[in-house]
Amino acid sequence: MHIDLERLGVHESVGTVFPARVLVEYLEDLPLEVGAIGDDEIADCDAVVTLEYDDAMLECAWIHSIQAGVDRFPFETLEAEDVILTNSTGIHGQSVGETVAGYLLAFARRLHDAAANQEDHRWDPPAWDEAFTISGTTACVVGTGTLGTGVADVLGSLGVHVSGVRRSTEPLPAFDEMYANDDLLEAISDVDFVIATVPLTDETHHLFDAEAFAAMRENAYFVNVARGSVVDEPALVDALEAGDIAGAALDVFETEPLPEESPLWDLDEVIVSPHCAGFTRDYGPNIGEIVTENVARLERDDDLKNRVV
Ligand code: NDP
Repeated sequence: MHIDLERLGVHESVGTVFPARVLVEYLEDLPLEVGAIGDDEIADCDAVVTLEYDDAMLECAWIHSIQAGVDRFPFETLEAEDVILTNSTGIHGQSVGETVAGYLLAFARRLHDAAANQEDHRWDPPAWDEAFTISGTTACVVGTGTLGTGVADVLGSLGVHVSGVRRSTEPLPAFDEMYANDDLLEAISDVDFVIATVPLTDETHHLFDAEAFAAMRENAYFVNVARGSVVDEPALVDALEAGDIAGAALDVFETEPLPEESPLWDLDEVIVSPHCAGFTRDYGPNIGEIVTENVARLERDDDLKNRVV
């Protein structure tokens, strides 16, 4: 299918992650009109770069999601309407890897306690047996794509022994060991950290349920930087409250923003971050590179990079 692009809109929803003007400026040399747009102008564009989905985008020939996760987009409708969807996988490995390392270091070095104590001007060092070093610990990373590999690379550089869980058991260089999806419970049963980096699909919905948390060690921490619904959140809260696991660092939630009444805000040993594990000041240019590459590919009638639909 040949597409002539005349107008590309950068939808205002990208503003959650970076100002739309940053991407508009990055794309200004493209051989088409590029501008920041609100909902009213979507239908005037041949292509949109966006965080949110809106039905008006069905009028466009191409939608580019600034996220890797595209679980909010209606794949079947897009296909039926001949709308191309591309995503931004490939750019979040280092940023999310460093965020996950930050969570693990916070738990091990008790930095979250220090930050909370500082709020109250309280001088309260950890008990003698609370702090540990993450070098020599073990982590299981569930989902071995860009995110999982980035996490494995950064943790590996800190001396963490990293295993992975994927659909096949094919080894990958960043991982010391590999398990198949079917062996998830075995894979997470004897590690210090379990880290979810898997896309949200029908298969991974509530992958981390009461059974999974029961399989983990009582001194193990759980990290979710994937999507909220890969976790059965009430089961996680139960496991945390019962002391079945040691704690959790959570960047994503079943409902976002995390509702004020959620018990997760107040549980000891829970770090909450507002879906920003992949943020970096280079986010706009990183998206710009993918979009520029795909505009060139469209001109050549080549297959698009990161095409989902
Ligand atoms: P990729 O497409 O690079 O990787 C996804 C990997 O998951 C694939 O390599 C695949 O490996 C594996 N996979 C797919 N389906 C399953 C399954 N059913 N069970 C187990 N593994 C599966 O995506 P990214 O790594 O870039 O992103 C992954 C997800 O992380 C995104 O979908 C998004 O939801 C989330 N994300 C969150 C961010 C944040 O800020 N918190 C930032 C970026 C992404 P294989 O084929 O070997 O099974």
